[in-house]
Amino acid sequence: MLLIDGIHLLEGVKGAHCYLVTGSNPFLIDTGFPGQEARIIKYLLKAGVEPQSLQGIILTHFDFDHVGSVVALQKITQCPIYAHTIEIPYILENTPRPGIKYWVPILMRPLLGKLVAPEHIEALEGNHPFQDWEIIHTPGHTPGHIILYRNGIAIVGDLLQGGQIRLAPTIFTWRKPTLLESVNTLITRPLRWILPGHGPATPASIHWLDQLNNTLVS
Ligand SMILES: [Zn+2]
Repeated sequence: MLLIDGIHLLEGVKGAHCYLVTGSNPFLIDTGFPGQEARIIKYLLKAGVEPQSLQGIILTHFDFDHVGSVVALQKITQCPIYAHTIEIPYILENTPRPGIKYWVPILMRPLLGKLVAPEHIEALEGNHPFQDWEIIHTPGHTPGHIILYRNGIAIVGDLLQGGQIRLAPTIFTWRKPTLLESVNTLITRPLRWILPGHGPATPASIHWLDQLNNTLVS
C-alpha cells in the first residue's frame, strides 16, 4: 500500500512492519519475522521495483520481528544491510541480545523458524546512499535504535507505536529514561506522519503530541 511520498507499507508481512521507499535509491526498512522474503519480493515486483535494484535494507534495531528475513532477502537482492554501529554486534550475534530478547528468537523458533544472523552489516554513518533522509540515533528501546526522518515523515521502528501513539511496552525496553529522551528528540521536529513498526501509519496531531508530552512529564 502506497502511504505517502513514495513510501509503501508492505501489507501481509508478519512481525513488525516492512516499509519500501521508492525513488532513485530504493530501499527497505525492516524485514518482519523469518520466512517473509517471498511476500516481500512479491510486493516489490508488484510495485515495479526490481529486487536487485534495491540499494539497501536498513534495520531500525536488532529485534527478532524486525530482522527476521534480512539474510534471505539479501541473498535475493544482493544489497547491503545497514544499521547503527552500536546495534551491529547484536544483529551479527557477536554480542547477545540483552535480557528477555536473548530468549525470544529461541522460544519462537519452533513456530516461526530459525533466525539467521547476517555475515556483514554496513554502519549507517557518513557515506551511504540515503542522504536525503536524516538518520537519527534514538536509543532506549535498544542501544542502537535508529529512526528515519524526511519532510515531516518519521519512520520510527519501535520508538513509538501507531494508532493511539504510545511507547512500546516497558518489558521490551532497554532503558526507559533514554527512550523518553529519544522521543523528545523526535517531537521537537516538525511532524506530519509517524510510520511505526507496529500499528497503523498515524498523522501527527497536537492531540497525541500533548498526550505524549504528559507521559514524558509524569
Ligand atoms: Zn523492537
